[in-house]
Amino acid sequence: MLSHLIYTKDYDISFWGLNRFHPFDGWKFSKAWHIVNKAFRGKAQNLLLNPSTPVSNELLLAIHSPAYLSALQQSATVSQIMEIKLIQYLPNYLLQRKLLHPMRMACAGTVLAAETALHNKSVAMNFAGGYHHAYPDHGDGFCFFGDAALSITNCRQKGLLQPHDKILMIDLDAHRGNGFYAFMGKDPDVHIFDMYNFQTYPGYFEDSANQHPYIIPLKAGTRDEQYLDILSSLLPKFLDEHKDAKLVFYNAGNDIFENDRLGKLSVSYHGVLRRDCIVLEELTNRLMPSVIMTSGGYTRTSYQFIAELAKSVIKLTNY
Ligand SMILES: [Zn+2]
Repeated sequence: MLSHLIYTKDYDISFWGLNRFHPFDGWKFSKAWHIVNKAFRGKAQNLLLNPSTPVSNELLLAIHSPAYLSALQQSATVSQIMEIKLIQYLPNYLLQRKLLHPMRMACAGTVLAAETALHNKSVAMNFAGGYHHAYPDHGDGFCFFGDAALSITNCRQKGLLQPHDKILMIDLDAHRGNGFYAFMGKDPDVHIFDMYNFQTYPGYFEDSANQHPYIIPLKAGTRDEQYLDILSSLLPKFLDEHKDAKLVFYNAGNDIFENDRLGKLSVSYHGVLRRDCIVLEELTNRLMPSVIMTSGGYTRTSYQFIAELAKSVIKLTNY
């Protein structure tokens, strides 16, 4: 199966203090890219596509409220979403340039990944994105813009996805995709598989379990064996029920890792790699065009998971 990598060095978030006041490694995207590029001696470049401009205001306005987008001109709003109090005192232009611009580039990356996956029937991995806590009218949990929802809207607008084409979301970040659900949960053409820790933000999913059998709560501290058992038994079932899906999104947050303070699950390093292999295998066995986003991951080794996943994606393409 063909595969593509979507990355630009503009994804990095590098302003003074972020790495001191936030568990997020702002340089993880370029660190991952350098590992991958070195490992394949430049051949990774052949599969690389760069988003060249940030996602447009026009597309943002197609899914987000004008009032919310205007509110981002206030540093206090940005500070609240990032959960870093100190940045409310920074001039907004600096936050736009150093923080929101990289995130808009990452959204453009997911949009490009979706177009690429549909055009080529390939697996397209964005090194960033996966902002599944952004809502139509507010941001939350470090997420400003709903990149997966933007991509779906963009593909529908361009006719790459037809009305009633089926779309799947596999969200294996430790946190439930509450924002993506707010955008797409009631869309009859979008189906969600979400394994999440219900004992951390944003908490237990209250909607009927009967209606959403694949939004699967896990206890804090869930370890490899149980995690991978649930995934291996339920994901193939979910994909078989939706064999006719035109596009699949995989939100591959690595905050399920045992050292991650925010995810609060206990999956080992090798368990995280195994998880990604299981998902890739299930998707490629069914030749499903897919978009991968890297979502959450708040350890200093987060970039290694991104790099390992990208290596597996490269291996799907035969040189
Ligand atoms: Zn997360």
